Amino acid sequence: MAVNLQTPIDYLKGVGPQRADVLRKELNIFTFQDVLNLFPNRYIDRTKYYKIGDLQQNNAEVQVIGKIKSFKEVAQKRGKRLVAVFQDDTGSMELVWFRGQKWIKDKLELNTPYVIFGKTNWYGNKCNMPHPDIETMDEHKTGLSSGILPLYPSTEKLTARGISNRVIGKIVQQVFLDTKGKFIETLTAEICSELKLLSKSDALLNIHFPKSQKLLAKAQFRLKLEELFYIQLQLILKNLIHKSKIKGLLFDKVGTYFNTFYASHLPFSLTNAQKRVLKEIRVDLGSTAQMNRLLQGDVGSGKTIVGFMSMLMALDNGFQACLMAPTEILATQHYTGLLAWCEKLNITIELLTGSSKTSKRKLIHNALEDGTLHILVGTHALLEDKVKFKNLGLAIIDEQHRFGVKQRSKLWKKSNATQETGSAIIPPHILVMTATPIPRTLAMSVYGDLDISVIDELPPGRKSIKTVHRYDANRLNVFRFIRDEIEKGRQIYIVYPLIQENETMDYKDLMDGYASIERDFPKPKYQISIVHGKMKPADKDYEMQRFIKGETQIMVATTVIEVGVNVPNASVMVIESAERFGLSQLHQLRGRVGRGAAQSFCILMTSYKLSNDSKTRLETMVRTNDGFEIAEVDLKLRGPGDIMGTQQSGVLNLRIADVVKDKAILQQARYHAKKVLQNDPALQHPEHSMVLDTYKAMSKFKNIWNYIS
Ligand code: ADP
Ligand code: MG
Repeated sequence: MAVNLQTPIDYLKGVGPQRADVLRKELNIFTFQDVLNLFPNRYIDRTKYYKIGDLQQNNAEVQVIGKIKSFKEVAQKRGKRLVAVFQDDTGSMELVWFRGQKWIKDKLELNTPYVIFGKTNWYGNKCNMPHPDIETMDEHKTGLSSGILPLYPSTEKLTARGISNRVIGKIVQQVFLDTKGKFIETLTAEICSELKLLSKSDALLNIHFPKSQKLLAKAQFRLKLEELFYIQLQLILKNLIHKSKIKGLLFDKVGTYFNTFYASHLPFSLTNAQKRVLKEIRVDLGSTAQMNRLLQGDVGSGKTIVGFMSMLMALDNGFQACLMAPTEILATQHYTGLLAWCEKLNITIELLTGSSKTSKRKLIHNALEDGTLHILVGTHALLEDKVKFKNLGLAIIDEQHRFGVKQRSKLWKKSNATQETGSAIIPPHILVMTATPIPRTLAMSVYGDLDISVIDELPPGRKSIKTVHRYDANRLNVFRFIRDEIEKGRQIYIVYPLIQENETMDYKDLMDGYASIERDFPKPKYQISIVHGKMKPADKDYEMQRFIKGETQIMVATTVIEVGVNVPNASVMVIESAERFGLSQLHQLRGRVGRGAAQSFCILMTSYKLSNDSKTRLETMVRTNDGFEIAEVDLKLRGPGDIMGTQQSGVLNLRIADVVKDKAILQQARYHAKKVLQNDPALQHPEHSMVLDTYKAMSKFKNIWNYIS
């Protein structure tokens, strides 16, 4: 029978219907192709032989040649163990069996050279090897197990059904025999030669049967690059399609609002990064494609003004704009901040939240629909069906990670905007602002459908926040420090964790903490605010406002203050039970201070009991203020799946590459994917035919070709 890579595994020699079934269920292996793509998890290097005298006290796997000198049986608690003395010309060690002793003893001969392989256990400076792999020299020379041995992924079921690593190795070998090991090249000649890649056939051969460490490394590089290349290709294509398919409103002029603000009301000069990002946004808005842009900038980097000036571009072209924030506190703060600028420009702006009064809502709804309201700021309340715009040109979402893709698309439908009378409704441009830095590499591999801008520069004159880690036992010193800061006129945040599963306990901690702070900072000299999730929005707001106005010196809170709140006079952030917070949350919280001229501090309080991960998180916080660096550590600790929340794209189901460890390869892959598509977006050139074929075979989105070609 003629085989190809789509042939079902049932047709492979050595795989009967039953094994085929197990392989399908356990490893998702359906075809010859799937067998080839089952990459080993790791390798055992059996190219090296150790002398017993040179063995190191670690538990790496080692291979030794020697002879068995004697056997003895040793009684132990249950049953007995078989022990052999194994010797070479440099020393001796023990081989130990707890099972199958009779068989071993019958099979193995004294004073015959054997190759043994396994992990060593050490007792003082004596070592033994339990249940070694053992072969005669002859078996060893002709067998599969010389060289570098691949270890394939396995499951309990596989093992129970006798599909051992060795059996899988044989199955893979059979695919190579049946196909003669010749596989179609899947990358362009240009990429192969530029990056000096192994051919597809050589790469597959060496990933499964490495001839040397060097070839193994080359095979891994080639296959990782290929995997990432096709993911990037897919993401970039999606983006291209989006741009060609989704029409956007054309804002072709920079007008009075923008120019007046820029010339007369700019409260400070923009940083270069802010200017650069504004230009990027300007280019998007000046094209006829819908903008779908992610603006990343560390806390305090000044995203708000960039958002506001983008809104002015919309207003200058006769459109409305909105800004959506995740909490009422934040929305209110944005509203207050923008109001001051809007008044100078005669721009109308309103705030809509869950607690807006019905009469106010009516006014807002009407003003939105007749176009007299220019800018609407609010919370999720913006998404309610009753909220309709006359012509929404730009929607900004602040602190994006709290909003899902669903909400983003809901915003699209808010508008009746058209470019010319009578033509179709065009969705607003979307700008998503986030202070949760997603490592650039991950962002570009996951958010391929969003363009990304980064504000990577803080406004001048910011003092970097000093962060320290203190144990609970040092609380008195911490309180003394706080008192000194208050003496200097500063304000303090003290934050408690609130984790849903633990809510009752956490509230108790918060209240206990509050009581003890009240004792140490007595009224009337000290005024304390408290804000937590169980309070009514109005009460929360009242307490928050007291703190913002400086009427209270200490704000005791749960993580509700996490995002966006801006009180420049607050200079100390105390985080209680800091070991319970995630890194990005710690970084967000710390970002609440360091907003004014004073030196700011972040104090991480913990008990003495810390896990290794907690230690890493605390050390990272103490070491650096750089949100991107912190995000990288976070990614390493938690893995991409947790960070992104949901499985957003192929990055999380990678076969061989790793977005964290293979950043450099990812960059190369992206570069080449871009280059291929730049000149040939529909992949019609003959030199790209293999890319087209491979992509089509992989892609679940076959219909997208309609949009491209
Ligand atoms: P974030 O990016 O965290 O949303 P904001 O937009 O709230 O940051 O800005 C943080 C603070 O920095 C605000 O008080 C803002 O007015 C100020 N700011 C922003 N840009 C600049 C700048 N270029 N120069 C000086 N201060 C700035
Ligand atoms: Mg902000």
